[in-house]
Amino acid sequence: MSVEYASQVDSVAEDSIVGDGAGGSDAVGSATVQSAPANASGYPSSLVGTSVVTLDDISTSQISELLHRAQYIDAHRKTVAHTCDGRVLATLFYEPSTRTRLSFETAMLRLGGQVIGFAGAQLSSVSKGESISDTLKTVSNYVDVVAIRHPKEGAALVASRAASVPVINAGDGGHMHPTQTLADLATLQSRFGRIQNLTVGLCGDLTFGRTVHSLIETLCRFGNVNFVLISPDELKTPQYVLDRINATPTCSYVEMSDLAEGIGDLDVLYMTRVQKERFFNEDDYLRLRDTYILDADKMRLAKPDMAVLHPLPRVNEIAVEVDDDPRAAYFEQVKNGMLMRMALESAVIGDELPGYEPLQQKEMRV
Ligand code: ASP
Repeated sequence: MSVEYASQVDSVAEDSIVGDGAGGSDAVGSATVQSAPANASGYPSSLVGTSVVTLDDISTSQISELLHRAQYIDAHRKTVAHTCDGRVLATLFYEPSTRTRLSFETAMLRLGGQVIGFAGAQLSSVSKGESISDTLKTVSNYVDVVAIRHPKEGAALVASRAASVPVINAGDGGHMHPTQTLADLATLQSRFGRIQNLTVGLCGDLTFGRTVHSLIETLCRFGNVNFVLISPDELKTPQYVLDRINATPTCSYVEMSDLAEGIGDLDVLYMTRVQKERFFNEDDYLRLRDTYILDADKMRLAKPDMAVLHPLPRVNEIAVEVDDDPRAAYFEQVKNGMLMRMALESAVIGDELPGYEPLQQKEMRV
């Protein structure tokens, strides 16, 4: 955990995390999640009961297993349709979302389970000042797994410590978005047959884009990736993320501000939206929001098999004309997001997929 993030978590724990992040007190309870005991590598020996605040919480073997599980689910939709019969997922979304919430929910419904929750905290007791810990201690009595999105970095960690069921981070401020990364990895795997030995360009808001931070963190663990970090000076990659790349001998990065200059070298171009909601100053947002627009002209400079990813929603970063280019992979990412959430939800609850054979257990730490 970066020092920067650790101090944010402390402040989250001290403040109350209510819908708008204001007021109250929030005692972080002791960890009560009934997770599998950690093995010698420090990772849980199984995903059952495991909260996923960041993908650093699970081993690379477990991530590979989830990719394998999602492929099986895609090929056996009917067979797995009752895997989570009788289970309930809560989606607690304190921040706007379309894909993430709907795909967490669809995932549970497609596995035979049910869903409760809120989208927007204004109709929940959060608006009365309830702390996130109290909400999680309450909701834990109702459900088997929780997905939480919150505007504050560290909120998902606080939630996981208070809950007695597994908590999955569906985005905490500008910090992490682990299930988006699972969708991204599945998309790379299906496009290239691998998630290593790639030159990955990330373009746009690299400061506040949590999907970028999660993806870099995880690709570094698998190794052998060259990152091309394309952003204006004001939206560069945070130091704790660069430190992660620097600490990985098989990974490297270059920073640049011109998309046209870098695009020809890329296997993957990961476009991002400028994160309006994390700006303090509207003028800065307006000045920076259209810095990069990927269009057919720029695509002509790219390799014929480059994959264009975007966590969505897009604003202007990708012209609609690019959607028909076979290199556009962003709507595939959406499908993969649902499949990976099906894989993860069933795994942390501990429900076996009928007929599924796990990948051979590999070394737990890479
Ligand atoms: N949907 C992604 C997120 O929640 C990306 C974005 O909002 O720009 O982080």
